[in-house]
Amino acid sequence: MMEFLHKLSEMKKGLIRPLSLFSFSCIVSIGTLFLYNLPFFNYVANNSNESVGGKIFLLASLVVIMLVLNFMMAYLVMFLMRIVGRVLLAILALINATAVYFIFTYSVMIDSTTIGNVFNTRYSEASGFFSWSLWLFIFVFGLLPALYCLFQPVIYGKVKKLGIYCGSSLAVVLVIASMNISQTLWISQHDTELGGLLQPWSYLVNTCRIISFSHDEQAEEIKLPDGQITDDEKAVVVLVIGESARKANFQLYGYERETNPLLSQQEDLKVYQATSCATYTTAGTKAILEPENSDDLYEMLPNYAFRTGVDVSWRTSNWGEPPIHIDEYLTDSELSEQYPDENKNYDGILIKGIRDRIESSPKNKVLIVLHTSTSHGPKYADKYPKEFEVYKPVAKNVEEGEKNIGMLINAYDNTIRYTDFLLDSLINTLRAMEEWNSAMIFISDHGESLGENKMFMHGLPMRLAPKVQYEIPFFVWTSKGFRDYKPTSSKQDAPEGELPAVLEQHYIFHSVLNLLSIQSPAYKKDFDIFQVKDDGERQH
Ligand SMILES: [Zn+2]
Repeated sequence: MMEFLHKLSEMKKGLIRPLSLFSFSCIVSIGTLFLYNLPFFNYVANNSNESVGGKIFLLASLVVIMLVLNFMMAYLVMFLMRIVGRVLLAILALINATAVYFIFTYSVMIDSTTIGNVFNTRYSEASGFFSWSLWLFIFVFGLLPALYCLFQPVIYGKVKKLGIYCGSSLAVVLVIASMNISQTLWISQHDTELGGLLQPWSYLVNTCRIISFSHDEQAEEIKLPDGQITDDEKAVVVLVIGESARKANFQLYGYERETNPLLSQQEDLKVYQATSCATYTTAGTKAILEPENSDDLYEMLPNYAFRTGVDVSWRTSNWGEPPIHIDEYLTDSELSEQYPDENKNYDGILIKGIRDRIESSPKNKVLIVLHTSTSHGPKYADKYPKEFEVYKPVAKNVEEGEKNIGMLINAYDNTIRYTDFLLDSLINTLRAMEEWNSAMIFISDHGESLGENKMFMHGLPMRLAPKVQYEIPFFVWTSKGFRDYKPTSSKQDAPEGELPAVLEQHYIFHSVLNLLSIQSPAYKKDFDIFQVKDDGERQH
């Protein structure tokens, strides 16, 4: 056995010539640049407004800086950590390859949002992204370079050499950076995009940022001033949070396909123009539930209503919502234990038994939040029961859809047909409960790209995002005589007492407070889509 191992290592020595650490680091550096950073240079070339000469100079400078920095990183890591350094370089190669695959395939940027979404995604959803082409890509561009980093014999050399190489690397970077000082403004204007395309720095830096953010978010939510319920009329609000539902594919908003055959027949449906505050789930959902746009964590609508004495239930097939502190939080699998005859793979499970739930409430005020996942990619075709497959053929996932956008849109439109069915059933259920004043509010967390400009899914920073990622459906149904709507102005700068032409997500909090007759210092009447019921009537 020993003899065999000895022979093997002799063979290895014969096959792979040992390299100096200098040469090894050069190879790692050049490899990192060509294998993982072409999208970065592509972005610079397309977005710099320099003349051709200026562009070439900027690109050349960035190439040299990146080569030198990557060289220094490889040299330091290997020299200081030896075998651990090799393992680190190998892991970076694997993650780099994965990141570049997603940049190419879905046009994403690896910024703090993307990294946050990676950490917030459940395996069952993330597995939708795994495909043969991903594994092949990782094998060629991740695993092979990783094996090279692990097994290439290296002669480490003296500490003196380390000093000389690192010192001269830093000097080169400083000289070139100072020659490009005029580019500072351009770089700072594009820092998110540039940083998001630079491997491995994009995810290393942003993972640190996310860890420090989530550390901050552990802090208690900021309590809102106490409110009180001012009448004892029976009232129920069902707030439906849509997932990746974009306005453009709703018949209610003028889409040419009949994606809302049922809702478009519903009387008393009030349809608003609206935009989301972000293009990803955690931020969009937070904006729907918080009283105002804030980086801080305020008491969320369900928590606040619950503390004020409302019977609150949260039913979800999704994730990524802010912290919810109420007595009844039900996931789709928990609901399917209650209703074993309903298929738990589809969002129909969320509305199952809802009438009994409301009518058996011990309270007069009920708030039910349905956090749906009906239009969540990349496997749209898995999100609805077969009988809702109206548009055919469908793409199984976004990757297949990239080759045939029509098939991808078919699958997506079927999810909107299914949404139409769910919301229509919900409205019919509420309408039948004549003892209750009731309202159904539907608003999406953000929109979705379906191949326009080769973009897919969602999650681009707001200032880069196309309209389809933030133009969202927002519509409301109320039972007769529940509340009156405020008029909507044709202008964004609306006169007193009217709503602006386009609403955003923070209207939900205040409108729901009104519907549940919660009087509170946190309530802002300008952010309420309803007229305030006058006090004389309320106190009778
Ligand atoms: Zn979402």
